[in-house]
Amino acid sequence: MTILVVRDAELLVTCDDDGREIPGGWVAIDSGMVSAVGEPGSEPAADRTISARGCLVTPGLINTHHHMYQNLTRSHAPALSGTLFQWLQTLYPLWARLDEEAAHVSAWIGLAELALGGCTTSTDHLYVHPAGGGDVLAAEIAAAVDLGMRFHPTRGSMSLSQKDGGLPPDSVVQDDDTILAASEDAVARFHDRSHGAMVRIALAPCSPFSVTKGLMSSTAELAERLDVRLHTHLCEDRDEDAFCLEKFGQRPIDYFEEVGWGSSRSWIAHCVQPNAAEIERLGRWGTGAAHCPSSNMILGVGLAPVRELRAAGVPVGIGCDGSASADSASLWLEARMALLQGKLRSGPQSMGARDALSMATREGAACLGRQGEIGELSVGACGDVAVWSLDGVRFAGALSDPVEAWLRCGPVSARDTIVHGRPVVEGGQLVHPAQDEMLVRHRAAAMRLTAL
Ligand SMILES: [Zn+2]
Repeated sequence: MTILVVRDAELLVTCDDDGREIPGGWVAIDSGMVSAVGEPGSEPAADRTISARGCLVTPGLINTHHHMYQNLTRSHAPALSGTLFQWLQTLYPLWARLDEEAAHVSAWIGLAELALGGCTTSTDHLYVHPAGGGDVLAAEIAAAVDLGMRFHPTRGSMSLSQKDGGLPPDSVVQDDDTILAASEDAVARFHDRSHGAMVRIALAPCSPFSVTKGLMSSTAELAERLDVRLHTHLCEDRDEDAFCLEKFGQRPIDYFEEVGWGSSRSWIAHCVQPNAAEIERLGRWGTGAAHCPSSNMILGVGLAPVRELRAAGVPVGIGCDGSASADSASLWLEARMALLQGKLRSGPQSMGARDALSMATREGAACLGRQGEIGELSVGACGDVAVWSLDGVRFAGALSDPVEAWLRCGPVSARDTIVHGRPVVEGGQLVHPAQDEMLVRHRAAAMRLTAL
């Protein structure tokens, strides 16, 4: 049994049910799980101690939407100024070259980048499974295991190609039976239902314009039978509204309900375009939303109605998205973007740093169906912690509120990122020794994908 104690925090923010914040506080992690949290002077004996003097300590951040393979085509010059649909159609042919090596190195680098930004749990929406590309889902899970990150990959899918009126080319779609069989197989092989699990699977048809309606319904039924979560893109931009009205004769939320997804089992990425009545329905269903502020701005799709969604009871997590739309993968940056967008859209009093932190932790946990288990520092929760230095030039003069300072000053990365009681980042550096080697492999894979 190993006990790790992170102590002497400038401020320990638990994000627990009571919103407890403890000046000088500490958190103890025993065998991967939080065993105690407390006031200064009551620290337990430890096998290892990490001083957080001068630091803000928060739960590790949770990334609720991402496409890690896209970091192989980051900032791709021919796709920099397109709308969502134009951007996708430029990149689909490159992504059709994805294989196991490319999936592995992109997930490894993607998760490393997230860890450096204080993230401890990430999902990944992997919806490209090219014929002959091998087992790309297993390849990315191996990367998470190697790094020690908590991982919620989804078995994504596309089944509606251009010949059937969809957006993607034939080369990146699969038929419904293949997708459903692979989904069931992924759950059987990788989904860990235990408390504190490091890997869980969700099922994730990509979007209304890239899958058949039948696949959406069948996937919802399969998720119900297997008791796993459902994820998709929804209400991202106006082209999607127009597509759904033209092809299905209904708006995206009506489509979503009709195919059996309107429930607390689902969380959706973006959620920029719902109207007031649709927001109310999402809240009633308990469907979660992954807010991706940078991606929404880069693709110009709009400002998500975050205040209204949260007021309606929708858990709103934060997602990096990308990494070819929002080309960086820092949850700190996305939390800050959420703060700024919230103020811009709904007024300066509508959102503070604590709201953004809650979204990046507790509400993200709710999106992933792990409320109380991750995203908070309370006894019995996972030992996932981010330690943020508040020292130096960037924080000079910020004396009144460490949480607001954390998100308004900066930019910052995590000093230490601890997952399941094990440091993945220490002193701002990845603990795993293979970073340089993985960057070389990543570059080779990226060159292969983007070759003319
Ligand atoms: Zn996305």
